[in-house]
Amino acid sequence: MTTSLRDALDAWRQLLGAPRVDDGDRAWARYGADTTAATRQLGGALRAASADQVPEIVRIASRFGVPVHPISTGRNWGYGSALPVNHGCVILDLGELRRIVAFDAELGVVTVEPGVTQADLAQFLAQAQHDFLVPVSGAGGTASLLANALERGYGVTPHTDHFAAVTWMEVVLADGTVHRGMLHEAGGPELASLFRWGLGMYTQGLFTQSGLGIVTQMSIALARRPESVAVCLFSLKDEALLEAAAVAIRQAMQRLHPTLGAVNLMNRHRVLSMSAPYPWDHLDAQGLIDAPTLQALGRQFQVFPWTGFATLYGTRRMVRAAQAELRQLLGGIASRLLFVTPRRADTLARLARWVPGASGRGLQRLTQSLRSSLELVAGRPNETALPLAYWRHRHPERAASPKNPAADGCGLIWYAPLVPMRADAVRRYAEMVGEVTRAHGLEPLITFTTLGDRVFDSTVPLVFDRSDPAACARAQACWHALLARGREAGFFPYRFPIQGMEPLRQLAPESCALSERIHRSLDPQGLIAPGRYR
Ligand SMILES: Cc1cc2nc3c(=O)[nH]c(=O)nc-3n(C[C@H](O)[C@H](O)[C@H](O)COP(=O)(O)OP(=O)(O)OC[C@H]3O[C@@H](n4cnc5c(N)ncnc54)[C@H](O)[C@@H]3O)c2cc1C
Repeated sequence: MTTSLRDALDAWRQLLGAPRVDDGDRAWARYGADTTAATRQLGGALRAASADQVPEIVRIASRFGVPVHPISTGRNWGYGSALPVNHGCVILDLGELRRIVAFDAELGVVTVEPGVTQADLAQFLAQAQHDFLVPVSGAGGTASLLANALERGYGVTPHTDHFAAVTWMEVVLADGTVHRGMLHEAGGPELASLFRWGLGMYTQGLFTQSGLGIVTQMSIALARRPESVAVCLFSLKDEALLEAAAVAIRQAMQRLHPTLGAVNLMNRHRVLSMSAPYPWDHLDAQGLIDAPTLQALGRQFQVFPWTGFATLYGTRRMVRAAQAELRQLLGGIASRLLFVTPRRADTLARLARWVPGASGRGLQRLTQSLRSSLELVAGRPNETALPLAYWRHRHPERAASPKNPAADGCGLIWYAPLVPMRADAVRRYAEMVGEVTRAHGLEPLITFTTLGDRVFDSTVPLVFDRSDPAACARAQACWHALLARGREAGFFPYRFPIQGMEPLRQLAPESCALSERIHRSLDPQGLIAPGRYR
């Protein structure tokens, strides 16, 4: 340990109290587990008890020249979990800052601290019977709302794009000063929390995917709970229907958004990863699910080559009208097109209990997962999506509750590229992913999610056995190969894991140079999250 690091840890102990400051070894034990199997040497870790400690924490970092890596809940699974990009950082854990600072029940804006989770907000809204939806993501109840928006994550409720719903932020800069924006400063906090563009230079975007400051508060506009929530489920029984489905989905988004929230199109592997155990005993020579087993699982769990899942929000009449339009747009392409409300999903789950035998068990799992997906769509966080992280885990039954894939030893890296909403692009993309993943001994799990009506974001979880070093190396190599092959073909991630920052620097030198100039003026010592997206 260097003298400056030792002195900085001592100064932080004086400020926060010794139990809130870890040395490098204790920090590693607490924060080191990462689903991507990355390792980073940590200088230590700090747990702030209140937001007003953050400016002094940063001043100490500056005095001793020790960089800090802020996390909110550290559940950045698939992108590095709690780990920093660079070695030697001290983790600044803001997870205990869990105040819901303000809530405007009339206009639907909540102001939260970094540690407020999806579950915290759900509980707060339910207790006071406020009719708003939590902007949920697949990461489950224990993940931070603020950090997900900072990473520009997305989810399934009407406010799919989480950063787009952010109206205001409070940010501590590297010199310990606090930035709240011009409208807040000159016009007052209420207006600032209601109008996301603020006044003068729009600065909020600078603090997302950047590490340019430490965000201690964020205001988020919430979607009101609509009169009616439903999902449209459909299947493509033939792989060749993918192109036609992509075009129909684009048309549906053009015509029906915002009643149509978003559409997810998942391949068979992806649906099975959330509903069926991994068939370890039926693998081919490459260690992947063999074709007959895939067919058999598809039959048992009633999963076709592609499954569509579209969300509908509005008045009953609006949802009914959108259903009719969807039927028309998807007719001739989709099979088993079905509209399900939360109540209908409950009934299906109850009925499935009466079906005996193996197909009954398959149906029970399927209806159960449908029921929890509906809950998620209705803005109630849960762990429906998390089992996919455990698919190639040797002992998924040992997962603790609530689930934590990093601590439980799951292997997962997200490849999450943007894909133009064109017929030929989705086909080329799906083929490319299939080829590259299989060549690296990984199953091709693909989802296309609409982000508006021009582009899909596709999420491909590279799921691997983290207890096997060779599998970890293959997954890393696969992510890099997907980045390169995808880029050649016109697909590129919207978000990067920590191992991806180096290639990003090579691919975008001019943008990284600009980012570096901005950082040099606000954070000349490189104290906050060095290496992130630059
Ligand atoms: C099965 C599964 C499903 C998932 N589904 C989704 C999904 O639907 N949508 C989605 O977006 N993600 C998803 N994820 C990915 C990830 O788990 C979530 O995005 C999660 O919300 C990120 O973790 P966090 O909220 O704890 O953020 P943190 O780990 O706390 O933060 C992430 C990063 O943001 C920055 N940061 C955090 N807090 C601050 C702060 N206060 N100030 C400055 N910078 C900060 C840091 O650089 C940090 O590394 C999923 C993961 C899994 C395994």
